[in-house]
Amino acid sequence: MRRTFAAELAAIRAGPLYRRLPANDGGGGVEVEFDGRRVVRFAANDYLGLAGSELLVGAAAAALAAHGVGSGAARLIGGTRAPHRRLEEQLAEFKGAAAALTFASGYAAAIGAVGALVGRGDVIIMDKLCHASLVDGARLSGATIRVFPHQHLDKLARLLAWSERQCPTGRVMVITESVFSMDGDRAPLREIVGLKDRHGAVLLVDEAHAVGVIGPHGRGLADELGVAGAVDVAMGTLSKALGAAGGYLCGSGELIELLVNRARSFIYTTAPPAACAAAAGAAIAHLQTAAGEACRRRLWENIRHLAAVIPSSARPAAAGESAIFPLPVGDETAATACSRALFERGFYVPAIRYPTVARGAARLRVTVSAAHSPAQIAALGEALAAVLGPHPASHPDPSRQSSGE
Ligand SMILES: *Cc1c(COP(=O)(O)O)cnc(C)c1O
Repeated sequence: MRRTFAAELAAIRAGPLYRRLPANDGGGGVEVEFDGRRVVRFAANDYLGLAGSELLVGAAAAALAAHGVGSGAARLIGGTRAPHRRLEEQLAEFKGAAAALTFASGYAAAIGAVGALVGRGDVIIMDKLCHASLVDGARLSGATIRVFPHQHLDKLARLLAWSERQCPTGRVMVITESVFSMDGDRAPLREIVGLKDRHGAVLLVDEAHAVGVIGPHGRGLADELGVAGAVDVAMGTLSKALGAAGGYLCGSGELIELLVNRARSFIYTTAPPAACAAAAGAAIAHLQTAAGEACRRRLWENIRHLAAVIPSSARPAAAGESAIFPLPVGDETAATACSRALFERGFYVPAIRYPTVARGAARLRVTVSAAHSPAQIAALGEALAAVLGPHPASHPDPSRQSSGE
């Protein structure tokens, strides 16, 4: 007998990895109504609290009135509207690149870029904890994939040396995130740049969780470390700290023209709404103002405050490197129970489980934003101490790793 949807679902429901969609009826702020209960959310990637801001809502509303909702066609068919053109000019200028291209999402940017730039006969060398969009892009590309353990520079160097012998004429692409989405730690970009240059590889850096958060005016970690010019393919999303929706790639004019011609997730999809582009453009402009800087300073005050109130037994090694705090629990069922217990105390903090992270490496993923108040952060610290106790439920096995969601 062939398996039914019902039987398959029943098997998932019976295990520790069942997922369901909570109802979120709360507007764009940090206080939301989740499953009918009012809670403070420490779960979004809206790090500057811009998603629901008057600034972005106003920019989107004006673009809606001028351009309507849907774009009607892919850009190669329907042409590029002013908000998209302006946004790409702003992005290129902001990131110090010659050109930029926007996509409907960061996920689409990742699969489009990787597939457009490498294929059969080429090699991809990527960090083990790279986001699922990068993993999917690598798999779809047809290139040979080699993975190095998280931030393991020696192994990266050995793989680069191997790739020179194995693939002397093809393209070799190194892929990493700058801030890792489920671990919150920072990649050693200077060292990675040195290695990829030595071996003639190109480097793609996904700054999804760093843009708007790290670097001068929130330009990202590569800029903070002074290596932005050495990143061949700079990727990011408009959907996180920038508070809008969409993904982008920045680089040379040749790179961007190549993507326009080759990136299938750009070519074969309708242009995102002009309102999204206008909102993202407003966010980028805001980052470069005194008000934007004040907002980012508030975020960093909140990051330091949260790092100080997390119970020491649960404090991640990378606490304070970014707005992401993964609190290790280990067991999937225990992580879900911790998340539930926090919910009952008035906080929404999701449990992150396999396959987003490795089996047995389940965690609570706390994210903080500029919009949280000191009182909310202090109260979360108390709730975490009560739920996680002086000793967390169990310790994860650090040797087990898997790709981010
Ligand atoms: C969220 C995320 C993406 C995808 O971006 P979306 O705009 O949400 O599709 C890509 N890479 C990383 C590292 C992410 O965290």
